[in-house]
Amino acid sequence: MSGLLPLLLRRIRQTGPMTIADYMVECLIHPGHGYYTTRDPLGAGGDFTTAPEISQMFGEVIGLCLAQAWLDRGAPAPFALAELGPGRGTLMADILRATARVPGFHTAMEVHLVEVSPALRARQSETLPGAAPVWHDRVEDLPEAPLFLVANEFFDALPVRQFLRKGEGWAERVVGAQGERLAFGLTDAAPLAALAGRAADTAEGDLVEVRTAAVALAGEIGRRIAASGGAALVLDYGAWRGTGDTFQAVRGHAKVDPLESPGTADLTAHVDFEALSGAAREAGAAVTPMTPQGVFLQRLGITARAQALARRGDAHRIASEHRRLTHPEEMGDLFKGLGIHRKGDPPLPGLDP
Ligand code: SAH
Repeated sequence: MSGLLPLLLRRIRQTGPMTIADYMVECLIHPGHGYYTTRDPLGAGGDFTTAPEISQMFGEVIGLCLAQAWLDRGAPAPFALAELGPGRGTLMADILRATARVPGFHTAMEVHLVEVSPALRARQSETLPGAAPVWHDRVEDLPEAPLFLVANEFFDALPVRQFLRKGEGWAERVVGAQGERLAFGLTDAAPLAALAGRAADTAEGDLVEVRTAAVALAGEIGRRIAASGGAALVLDYGAWRGTGDTFQAVRGHAKVDPLESPGTADLTAHVDFEALSGAAREAGAAVTPMTPQGVFLQRLGITARAQALARRGDAHRIASEHRRLTHPEEMGDLFKGLGIHRKGDPPLPGLDP
């Protein structure tokens, strides 16, 4: 037995079953054995692929969206152009290319990347020559400046806890040990103040997911934007107040058992946009409606961009990328966009009510 499994079994024997949130943190970002800390998992040859890896059009229209928001706010200088969990750096590279001709944007910007993985930081530095990005472990470490921030498929990797409704209380789903293997278990049910708001819309046996770290982060982003201005764009799969088990593991583009070979598969759960919106609002910022990705990209002009690219050749490939990003049966409906901005400022283009 090698890797993370023996460490987790020992920990469970010493201090008892772990929450799914703790399990996710260990599996994804353990310094020596974490999935993200030790590899580049993206792309067709990797475990999963993301919108920026599918097509340059995604980052290009998002770049223009952020540049328009910057112009709408009077072109503040200097400002922080920040990305959370930049993966291979592809989205940022496309944003930078698309904004190169926006007068003043590149001279006023400082690029900041929030990334825990040394492997992916190295990859980002190769993808972004000349951008002189500054890396941070945490959002709290970003400078206090007008903030133009994007996070694509970042919040889904943050830890979630799962609770099962039992009577008036909630039992937590945990990861324990069965011999030399990991197994799911349930704690005794107890009333939880944090889930009081879910009493009315759930029934016996329903499962709900709570992502405390993500809520805190959305609050921090909201606080910064309320104080210093800017705008944030969160894109991810999820819904407005989800119910049910969405915890999943993906390896080699297929779903696998999340407890098998910990640290070797991507672990995620759907994002609850209601929780993120609420936290940003409580921190004093305004939020846009949650908008399906297909609608958002269409409003930003992705179809005209696809037509322009198709005229230069490879029209078949461009059409298929456009379909994957926008069609309701592909990524168009499952993925959502949410904008965070300062009260009184215009919402991000494409996300306005
Ligand atoms: N945004 C990219 C990559 C998504 S994968 C894309 O769309 O292609 C998730 C990214 O978030 C990876 O770069 C991963 O290393 C990073 N990440 C995961 N958990 C993190 C955490 N807690 N703090 C900072 N970065 C994290």
